[in-house]
Amino acid sequence: MPDCLAVLNAGSSSIKFAVYDMAAEVQHLHGQIEGIGTAPHLRLAGHPGEILAERRWSAGELDHDGATREIYQAIADFLGDGRLLRAMGHRVVHGGIAYTAPVIVDASILEALAAFVPLAPLHQPHNLAPIRAIAAHQPDLLQVACFDTAFHRAQQWEAQAFALPRRYFAEGVRRYGFHGLSYEYVSKALVDLAPDIAQGRVIIAHLGNGASLCAIHRGASVASTMGFTTVDGLMMGTRCGTIDPGVILYLMEREGLDLRGIEDLIYRRSGLLGVSGISADMRTLRASKAPEAAAAIALFEYRILREIGSLAAALGGLDALVFTAGIGENDAATREAIMRGCAWLGVAPDAARNAAGKGRISADPSPVSAWVIPTDEERMIARHTAALLRR
Ligand code: ADP
Repeated sequence: MPDCLAVLNAGSSSIKFAVYDMAAEVQHLHGQIEGIGTAPHLRLAGHPGEILAERRWSAGELDHDGATREIYQAIADFLGDGRLLRAMGHRVVHGGIAYTAPVIVDASILEALAAFVPLAPLHQPHNLAPIRAIAAHQPDLLQVACFDTAFHRAQQWEAQAFALPRRYFAEGVRRYGFHGLSYEYVSKALVDLAPDIAQGRVIIAHLGNGASLCAIHRGASVASTMGFTTVDGLMMGTRCGTIDPGVILYLMEREGLDLRGIEDLIYRRSGLLGVSGISADMRTLRASKAPEAAAAIALFEYRILREIGSLAAALGGLDALVFTAGIGENDAATREAIMRGCAWLGVAPDAARNAAGKGRISADPSPVSAWVIPTDEERMIARHTAALLRR
């Protein structure tokens, strides 16, 4: 096997990683360390379903930097002698105004990206930490940052602007949009499945712990539900999504919540978790008989339907609706509710196809088709990293 490139996708409690050939076509290895801070657990796999290695640590034994070192070592062991790791691509949630395409990271870029931490407090610190850790231990390894905001940067001004005094837009207070690597991957996958439809007006629903919708026309992002930060738009696992800013002012005044208190409330204690009082996890809520679980799911679905209406208006109509990420790929009941709620747009579900949950899930005569397309952010990062190396 010749030289390789690796990809790291680091979140708050997990780091996913993968190794590819230099064309980003063949995946040789993938794995993850989950439960960082609680019960760290490394899993390493070659082909799907094939576990190459597993390892567990106790909570205090492995922090994020330790996990990064373990992953680097696992990759180095896998490559062995004679095979060179040429580059490592990273998912970085926020690239601000300046970073509209993947970049090779150096110390000054790392510093610039750290300035976006307040805009994505659940993600950006964890995205940057492994880049720093690897730069310290392997300073010669080329590291590439790929941004979730980049895909949305060509949106027209109206889709990006807030109705605030004009100078704020120039200073970077604007709607950025996120999940861009996922949207880019899924919209390209739709081209392979249905090239004509991919040329039309498409809404992709990325429904995971973080959730957003993106309106796409001819493969380009037109509008999305996430805004200045990753807390905007849909209701999520623990994030509230769009909220009247007056509620924040009220809570600050009446309950004396300070900045950190508000941040904790809207990012970590709201969404499915806050409304149900049970869990942020859709599987747990689906399994629960509590009315609060049903209410949380109903609100989750209602918010998606409202926002689909808004994005369909931004697109001037709709040709296809695509579901992806943990809930979008696996939860047939959520898909069914959303498709039924989109009957007015022309979506007609096919019950058997939806239960199977692969490819086209709408009925054949459906004027607007519906699809399930698994996302693969790591593959998209690998492709960007490979393209940057070729240049
Ligand atoms: P992240 O944003 O952390 O990458 P994921 O895309 O993995 O999140 O999505 C996690 C969500 O997907 C959780 O709410 C989980 O319950 C849900 N999910 C995963 N598998 C299923 C399933 N089989 N049925 C319903 N929900 C599922």
